[in-house]
Amino acid sequence: MNPATLDTDVSTNLKTTFALQRRHASAMALTTAADRIDRLKRLQQWVLSNEQAIQQAMYADFRKPAPEVTLAEIYAVNSELKFIIRNLKQWMKPQRVPTPLSMVGTTGYIRHEPKGNVLIIAPWNYPFSLMVKPLLAAIAAGNVAMLKPSELTPNTAALLKRMVSEVFPPEEVALFEGDASVAQALLELPFNHIFFTGSPAVGRIVMTAAARHLASVTLELGGKSPAIVDETASITEAAGQIAWGKYLNNGQTCIAPDYLLVHESVKAPFLDAFQKAIQRMYNPDGRGIEVSDSYARIVNRRHFERVRHLIEEAVEKGATVRVGGQTNEAGNFIEPTVLEGVTPDMQVMQEEIFGPVLPVVTYRDKAEVTQHVNAGEKPLALYIHSRNQKNINYFLENTSAGDTVINDTMLQFSHPHIPFGGVNNSGIGKSNGYFGFQEFSNQRGVVRRDFGTFKFIYPPYTDKVRKLIHALMKYF
Ligand code: NAD
Repeated sequence: MNPATLDTDVSTNLKTTFALQRRHASAMALTTAADRIDRLKRLQQWVLSNEQAIQQAMYADFRKPAPEVTLAEIYAVNSELKFIIRNLKQWMKPQRVPTPLSMVGTTGYIRHEPKGNVLIIAPWNYPFSLMVKPLLAAIAAGNVAMLKPSELTPNTAALLKRMVSEVFPPEEVALFEGDASVAQALLELPFNHIFFTGSPAVGRIVMTAAARHLASVTLELGGKSPAIVDETASITEAAGQIAWGKYLNNGQTCIAPDYLLVHESVKAPFLDAFQKAIQRMYNPDGRGIEVSDSYARIVNRRHFERVRHLIEEAVEKGATVRVGGQTNEAGNFIEPTVLEGVTPDMQVMQEEIFGPVLPVVTYRDKAEVTQHVNAGEKPLALYIHSRNQKNINYFLENTSAGDTVINDTMLQFSHPHIPFGGVNNSGIGKSNGYFGFQEFSNQRGVVRRDFGTFKFIYPPYTDKVRKLIHALMKYF
């Protein structure tokens, strides 16, 4: 964990690459939209011609089903690529701003200039897209970048390394495999911006390190994201949508519905529909969920034990397993599980679950919902399932969350016009499309004097000047 324990060769290599990139940053800053689009197209070409290799790497890492790789990793990257390529020229144009009366005689505009040397640290759960999507934004904004993938998905990390070395020269983009010690050594370097995706605990470490150089940060973190199902919700639809969002990637999705807040009048039909949705998706032929090739696995033994412990501890404290509950440590398999009768003292209701377990909390009055949500950290995602606009407004107005989807789940991640990200404990800063481009850019304000003067308010502060300053206050 300590950079001092890092191999001296690795540490020297990081510093040398950083210096190389720093020297190159000003050349990258001068690249045109066409230059950057060339780079993005080269990357796109690599991604599209390596679909199978990407699928194989993630299957080897945690049996991620190939269609899920295509959807949440390759499609996610390719649709973002297309969107950036289409819009980059426009985003890079200086943006004129209006001139207020007090500024008559000037013109103002905003230039997006690259932040410079950026660091991107990625997690393991979507190990390809959560590394490549920020990289696209970094390149679009004209930065040089150093990358650190997660050590928990080594096959994908090795493939990403090959991708970077085949597509970019090291003075533009360089990737370093390794664990937290490599991340910490990177965090010692004076980057201009750090884009981190991972847990809130490590997010704090990253922000502390960034403070040493006053580097700006984007923190894409996690936490407990609730799904609310009110008494007016379309039960079958909501059950299918929540089951899909929950069990995709085996529940290891930062924006997965973490727990359910369901109106007591619809709890029974909802849970019936939810159980049916699980069977439909993962056991359509009755051969058992464990043999389904549509169901991923927990990434490693440590996380398997952690999630199993969450179920066991909840049951010991009085919760009941309504659905699933079976585990098999050979293969890190945990069945899609639903827990009833959960209470706030259970760990499953305190920490981000990050696994295929859905605790169910019932409510009678919608104020109970907002009290429950507001008692915890602000979530990354909050899902509302309702057909009553007043209820929807109430939940939106009385809570705060990074993003909200109404009557579906997960859509916010792939919507290029929606700022994706958290708030406080669930994150700082936003990504997707233009928001990602902005995150990696310094919005440099430029005001040009075309005619006129402010000389009349310069010292000495005679009575006349004082009156003019008061007049300015009054009229502008
Ligand atoms: P993590 O925080 O353990 O690791 C993320 C990265 O940080 C890895 O590359 C890891 O090597 C590095 N790291 C670990 N310890 C470190 C340390 N002490 N110092 C510096 N770097 C360190 O997260 P994870 O387990 O890979 O991912 C799961 C978490 O990420 C969950 O909380 C999830 O909600 C969150 N997440 C958020 C998003 C989002 O977009 N908001 C997306 C995916 C995952």
